[in-house]
Amino acid sequence: MFVAANWKMNLDKNSIFEFSKHLNNFKFSSKVEACIFPPMTYIDYLNSLISKLPISVGGQNCHYKKSGAYTGEVSPLFLKDTGCKYVIIGHSERRILNNEINDEIKLRAQSAINSNLKVILCVGENLIDHQKGSAFKFVEKQLLESLPDNFENLLIAYEPIWSIGTGKIPSVNVIEEMHQHIKKFISKKTNKKVKVLYGGSVNPENINNILNIVNVDGVLVGGSSLNVKDFLAIYSAAVKHLDKF
Ligand code: PEP
Repeated sequence: MFVAANWKMNLDKNSIFEFSKHLNNFKFSSKVEACIFPPMTYIDYLNSLISKLPISVGGQNCHYKKSGAYTGEVSPLFLKDTGCKYVIIGHSERRILNNEINDEIKLRAQSAINSNLKVILCVGENLIDHQKGSAFKFVEKQLLESLPDNFENLLIAYEPIWSIGTGKIPSVNVIEEMHQHIKKFISKKTNKKVKVLYGGSVNPENINNILNIVNVDGVLVGGSSLNVKDFLAIYSAAVKHLDKF
């Protein structure tokens, strides 16, 4: 079970310090893996504040080149060097706002894995494809074109774009079927099992319903991860969920 916290471009140094105080007073379980993705500039800082905790830090993106004239970009090697374990690749906000296309996302994911980072590859349909009933096709194309050649250290996050930050989430059936579809598609293509996280408006109120869905291996949380109490409530729900088995 995995809980990923994508802080996006939020929380400054003071807020991170306050957040970390709560984390350091909390009893984490070895059963649930957690990773926080702070703004790039604070990865090192957050890492130093939570170094004794079983939580990892990650990058929200990385370039496919290891170094060079790429102003404003970050190398996967630098993420690794600064203590990152994971990196998110292909988040819909980067696809939309930074025009990242599948081919490039594949290169980024591949380069990150080759740099010994674990990749959370984000896929998910927009509202139009959701309404047209072509979400499976949309996600299949994303996978086909952006899956890296090296499947070790790869997780998928199913994040329907229309659900991100909107408070709307797909039905239990839709999430279950999409996760199954993704797992089947990948195992057919690669013979490998992959973990699939759900992302999109996860909060302390809906987390139990989401965790009860078959084929959900964890969650990628945006907005609710900015509030430490909500983040820890989501994490605790994941621990309690596993305690049932
Ligand atoms: C995200 O952006 O990855 C996300 C899941 O955001 P939110 O939880 O705010 O919908």
